[in-house]
Amino acid sequence: MNKRNIYILVFIVSVIGLVIIQYRYLRIGLNLANVRFSQNIGNSVKTIQEDLSSNNELTFLMGKALTNDDTYFETNLDSVKKASSNFLYDFLEFKLLEKGIKTDFSYKLFTKNSSLFLNSANFNDQEIKSKRYPVQLIGYLPNLVQDDVVLELQFNRINEYFLIQLNGLTIPSLIFLFDIVAVVIWVLHSFYWQQSVITMTNDFINNLTHELKTPVFSIGLATKILEQKSNEESKEYLEIIRTQNDRLKEHIDKVLQLASLDKKNTLKLIKTDFSPHLKRLCKEFELIARMEEVDFNFEIKDEQFLLKCDSLHLANAINNLLDNAKKFGSKNLKISLLGFVKKDQLHVVVSDNGIGIEKKDQKNIFKKHYRVIQGDSYTVKGYGLGLSYVKKIINLHKGKIDLDSQINMGTKITVKLPIVN
Ligand code: ADP
Repeated sequence: MNKRNIYILVFIVSVIGLVIIQYRYLRIGLNLANVRFSQNIGNSVKTIQEDLSSNNELTFLMGKALTNDDTYFETNLDSVKKASSNFLYDFLEFKLLEKGIKTDFSYKLFTKNSSLFLNSANFNDQEIKSKRYPVQLIGYLPNLVQDDVVLELQFNRINEYFLIQLNGLTIPSLIFLFDIVAVVIWVLHSFYWQQSVITMTNDFINNLTHELKTPVFSIGLATKILEQKSNEESKEYLEIIRTQNDRLKEHIDKVLQLASLDKKNTLKLIKTDFSPHLKRLCKEFELIARMEEVDFNFEIKDEQFLLKCDSLHLANAINNLLDNAKKFGSKNLKISLLGFVKKDQLHVVVSDNGIGIEKKDQKNIFKKHYRVIQGDSYTVKGYGLGLSYVKKIINLHKGKIDLDSQINMGTKITVKLPIVN
């Protein structure tokens, strides 16, 4: 499975996990709401029992309705029943509200032998999902009817009520969850879209660079042939063509080296004594330095530098450091290279007394395409690829790079690579 699919899988699993957790929290919330509701009902029941135990206007009217006694009133029995049913409803509503219960309810008042009966207008005995709380009444009413009197409170759609109470938690968490999903999808989409654009651009640059190799090679060959037949006057121009062509070839090689590394991201590491490779590249650089009147000296301790390395890439990387020391030099430029073993590590130290690098640029110069601007422009031509290549190579060798530089004083770059025993 590739990285992209792993990320997507992790994301989907995380979102499902979050949804399950949210659902569990919701269940816990509902249970807690249920417990609190029962506690509140318990408290209300006590006061309802108390208030309905004495003879007062309400219990008197209820008593008359229960016992079907309309002798006391001038109206008929139906009106008495209706009035007492409504007054009892209002009384219960008030008592429930007192304890913070504000939901639809209905009630039924009945005697044990069920012969006497009173209920609220919205009472439905068939409602199965409702929550019921029977309250055994004491005092006046049971005494009046000479039987047990039970007031049954019935709450319909109670889960909806709890959910509405929990909406302060559930709706924001659903919104946030939705936001997270939307943002992650957007980020993943942009990331992979950018990746594909970068890959396309890199492929294009690499193909183009590759195509440039043949004409550069032909120009090089033609220049060599012309140089053999040239006179003094044309020699100077041919020299310019050759040096510029060599520079172009170097750039092409750098781009292609980086591209191949980007694609494979691995090197063929072989146990090698790197000492002769280091000496050879120093000797080659000494020749170039002499031609360009740059003071270069090197000191390589006379011992084996056994490394697990890709000697070609490693030599290229160190060459890049020497090239930079020369490119970003100043008048009376002095460059040096030291190679020695310390604490099971090969240290290659490249120093120069050139223009140096400012502190703010130091952390960036190893990034791809980063170049330091001096004044309004770049002082030396380049593409900012050299040091990113060096860093990549040293990382692939499990090595380290230290940078020590001061503006106008010079730069010292130390490469440390593990020695194999
Ligand atoms: P390039 O050489 O193409 O500019 P590099 O990646 O090799 O790219 O270097 C990045 C930047 O780091 C350079 O543009 C330069 O400003 C700075 N730099 C690198 N080496 C040195 C050095 N020895 N002295 C001063 N500046 C340096």
